[in-house]
Amino acid sequence: MSARIIDGKAIADRVRAQVRADADAFIARTGVTPGLIVLIVGENPASQVYVRNKRKACLDLGWYSEIRAFPAEVSQSEVEAQIEALNADPRVHGILLQLPLPRHMDEQALLERIRPEKDVDGFHPVNVGKLSLGLPAPIPCTPLGIQRLLTEEGIETRGRLAVVIGRSNIVGKPVAQLLLRKGAGGDATVCVAHSRTADLPGLVRQADIVVAAMGQPEFVKGAWIKPGATVIDVGINRISDPSAPKGSRLVGDVEFAAAREVAGAITPVPGGVGPMTIAMLMHNTLECARRLSGDSA
Ligand code: NDP
Repeated sequence: MSARIIDGKAIADRVRAQVRADADAFIARTGVTPGLIVLIVGENPASQVYVRNKRKACLDLGWYSEIRAFPAEVSQSEVEAQIEALNADPRVHGILLQLPLPRHMDEQALLERIRPEKDVDGFHPVNVGKLSLGLPAPIPCTPLGIQRLLTEEGIETRGRLAVVIGRSNIVGKPVAQLLLRKGAGGDATVCVAHSRTADLPGLVRQADIVVAAMGQPEFVKGAWIKPGATVIDVGINRISDPSAPKGSRLVGDVEFAAAREVAGAITPVPGGVGPMTIAMLMHNTLECARRLSGDSA
């Protein structure tokens, strides 16, 4: 039997509609318009598309947003000075540093410059710590979007075995933390796999929920999936395909065609996890604006 396809775009549209309604009420209550600044360094074409989409999502909601673009050879201290200015700017509730940065820059030092209350990506050590303690804080957008997909689809996580493949700070580790947390969308038994994991196929075969975030095209085989399991494919990989219109196409980290024959529910690539990321960024920006304004409604 073929798996239910989880429509990330439809769920992201619902999240955005909810954020819009909440933001309109917040603006009416406080007179404060949420503001997001996206910092980009260098000419990475994929990053340029991402930052434009993030700004556009803000403008669509009627919010304040700007892109601050720096040449690849900008100094660390110049970007730091910009972050400090934004930390102090009352119009700005969210500061996002688009990654990756050019090699000469110290990414961690810059992320730590962002005021934790304006850290919409949830990458500041204070916010990483709060996530692991279960305290309110901005939570990385892609992991938050993955959890939202599961809850919106009514997929039970409590007591289930979730295998997260990938241990990055951006996806794998925060997804694992969220699934482990107490409450809705959490309470799972979580196992985090990585490139040194022995017998990945054997581990995945036991999983009720598989989150593949490894950046390896179609690495997770359909034959590894337990019948009826939920498969969340985070990977975005471009592979060459002479029959595709542009000579290439996007695939995830899971062998989709085979996995969908076995799984109970599965996210497609594109159209699964991807659309959730910007929707959750809007959610996080509004949450930061609310906390910074002392809005408790
Ligand atoms: P990273 O490269 O930072 O991390 C990849 C992780 O996968 C590492 O922990 C690595 O292990 C692990 N890994 C790599 N190969 C294997 C293997 N053969 N077996 C088991 N584990 C393996 O990637 P990210 O977390 O940043 O991103 C992962 C994927 O998700 C990428 O395709 C990226 O494009 C996509 N992505 C999608 C987003 C979206 O919005 N949909 C947002 C962010 C990312 P080790 O630590 O041992 O090296």
